[in-house]
Amino acid sequence: MLSLSKTIAKVKQKVQQAAVKGGTEAQKVHIVAAGKGRSIEQIQALMHTGAISAIGENRVQEFLGKYRQDISFDFIGRLQTNKVKYIIDKVRLIQSVDRENLLVEIDKQAKKHNIQANILMQINTGKEQAKGGIFVDDAIDFASKVMEYDNIILRGVMAVAPIADQNTLKVCFTDAYKVFCNLQDKYKDIDYLSMGMSEDYEIAIECGSNMIRLGRVLFGDVS
Ligand SMILES: *Cc1c(COP(=O)(O)O)cnc(C)c1O
Repeated sequence: MLSLSKTIAKVKQKVQQAAVKGGTEAQKVHIVAAGKGRSIEQIQALMHTGAISAIGENRVQEFLGKYRQDISFDFIGRLQTNKVKYIIDKVRLIQSVDRENLLVEIDKQAKKHNIQANILMQINTGKEQAKGGIFVDDAIDFASKVMEYDNIILRGVMAVAPIADQNTLKVCFTDAYKVFCNLQDKYKDIDYLSMGMSEDYEIAIECGSNMIRLGRVLFGDVS
């Protein structure tokens, strides 16, 4: 395992190269660190590098155990409606919003706390039944539903790509990018296209991603 600063430098270099290829600016690519299975000490060390914009957590219980006010957290995992109340005032962004009953609950809880909840809609680019996410064809409809809620702000799109060859990945990422652009044309506040993980972040950036979610490449493999 490389030292943390070397790991970050290497990732940044790859982000830079991918951004050049994709015709975007590397400084605009946000790095979210996927914190599942990692200790608060590991997370704090990573945050101290200054290179990470937030920690993404998948499980509510685990997140609450790690929560600190001085660290920015995103929720990136499948979210049960009855758990929204535990996280609503503690996260910067809920990235994994993919169904209407979740919108209802997020709006209700945000209102209770007198805040606006920032969300991404999760889309399912590979049309994988086992995965959550809105199909690309339904994305614009879903976005118009989000707009009906006063206490929710749609900030963009999150996509988890299927495990696939490079060409299939490019098709999926490009589909997500098109949804993102369509939303930007229609609405304000659409800032984030969250796609790309340790195995595929370079391709994702080439296809227009401006937010990557990295676990293993930052923390090493889980033992
Ligand atoms: C774990 C996880 C990641 C990071 O995965 P790595 O392959 O370890 O980079 C990104 N997004 C989500 C939703 C995850 O659950």
